[in-house]
Amino acid sequence: MDVIYDCLIIGGGLAGLTCGIRCASNGLHTAIISGGMNSLHFSSGSIDIAGYNTKGEIIKKPFDYLKTMIKENSAHPYAKTGIPGVRESLNFITGKFMEEGINLNHNNDMNHFHVTTLGTLKPTFLSQESVFNTDVADIANSHNKIAILNFKGFRDYYPEQTAANLKKNSMFKDKEIILGDISLPYYLNTEKNLHEFRSIDLARIFETERYLPRIAEEIKKASGGASIVSLPAFIGIRNYKTIRSKLQEMTGKFIYEIPSLPPSILGLRLDNALKNSFINLGGEYIAGERVVSGSIKNNQVEFVTTRNSGNIPVQSKFYVLTTGSFFSGGLAAGFDNISEPLFGLKVKGENKRSKWYNSNFFDRKSHPFLGFGVETDSKFNPVSGSGKTIKNLFCAGSVLSGYNPVSEGSGGGVAVSTAFKCAERIIKEIKND
Ligand SMILES: Cc1cc2nc3c(=O)[nH]c(=O)nc-3n(C[C@H](O)[C@H](O)[C@H](O)COP(=O)(O)OP(=O)(O)OC[C@H]3O[C@@H](n4cnc5c(N)ncnc54)[C@H](O)[C@@H]3O)c2cc1C
Repeated sequence: MDVIYDCLIIGGGLAGLTCGIRCASNGLHTAIISGGMNSLHFSSGSIDIAGYNTKGEIIKKPFDYLKTMIKENSAHPYAKTGIPGVRESLNFITGKFMEEGINLNHNNDMNHFHVTTLGTLKPTFLSQESVFNTDVADIANSHNKIAILNFKGFRDYYPEQTAANLKKNSMFKDKEIILGDISLPYYLNTEKNLHEFRSIDLARIFETERYLPRIAEEIKKASGGASIVSLPAFIGIRNYKTIRSKLQEMTGKFIYEIPSLPPSILGLRLDNALKNSFINLGGEYIAGERVVSGSIKNNQVEFVTTRNSGNIPVQSKFYVLTTGSFFSGGLAAGFDNISEPLFGLKVKGENKRSKWYNSNFFDRKSHPFLGFGVETDSKFNPVSGSGKTIKNLFCAGSVLSGYNPVSEGSGGGVAVSTAFKCAERIIKEIKND
């Protein structure tokens, strides 16, 4: 069997794509096999590094807090990437996003708040320029009226709920909030029931240039005297910047987006941008395919097989497992056990089901199962079921153990930094070969 790839990445979410881009940009023959949707399609499209401490308090300066995080938990993935590694990886990926036309804003190394679908404010580190961020907060502070709009017939967003929760926040408590619905022109020409529309259908309507003047008129009508207007985040997937600035010009209002229920257009923008970047660098992106098994011999991955390749093995010098957590199938839960399904890797977590979750669903400490995952050494090499380190396999992203993305608010940062680190190790090994 000939070695086909330098690096084969299993899973094409934020971690897999970051690793792929880093490897491909160093000239490695790299492929990503990705089975389906990833967490970005469900996310707010912002990248969190560290939002909360162990008491659930909000972290203002995440990079300062990483020192405490690592001190308190030496098994944390950030302890293995190192703090400079986190910064380097974020600089790298924001650069790649910028090349693809997406500016991710941060607030001078501090966390900022973004408004969630529910109208709560959540700390994050990097946000798209079109959502609520520090700049929007400054503009909102200087106006008394804001409008929160939805689309007639769209069932996946409730502006009343957003407004009610925003009112609980000191920044919004004295504001007059105007709620309104806008009707989209496309509705007039379709037989489709309005209730069947999802965020992607709406984003496509925004991308149809000739509809924009009519949409602008609807926005003006529905927003009353408010000069700041929020819409659920549907202002196009690819050319959202131009669409937003045209709508702002046509309405004379400042428009920002609020993340919506999945599929998340904000997340899709990031996903598209990373895929483009990877493919433009010569990477091979194999979509809709799943790795079904991996063969390990002499503490090395020999090959993997995929759903469509049958018994034909796919080989690489190095492999990176970025299959995500339970949500994406990277970890599996049996009745009383958890496992990593492809290689049978050693997993850290509780087997006793009653210890997987807290009785309070919304407990600030979140649920223990979110911290379960594959155990690795300091280089992100995992340990096989027989207890041996596998040298040509690396693990990154939410398949890893040692951290809780929800209670820490660290999901995006861990995915990017661990993936980048794995890529760096592979690049080094290939160069030394
Ligand atoms: C609902 C949700 C919302 C989130 N919101 C945010 C947020 O706003 N900000 C933030 O910073 N973090 C957020 N996170 C956390 C963060 O998005 C994730 O930690 C990060 O994106 C995980 O990336 P990943 O690449 O490790 O895994 P994933 O994104 O889960 O990707 C794994 C990929 O692997 C594929 N796969 C699995 N098994 C196989 C197989 N056998 N063969 C081939 N492919 C396979 C899956 O189909 C999937 O595409 C959120 C997470 C979730 C679940």
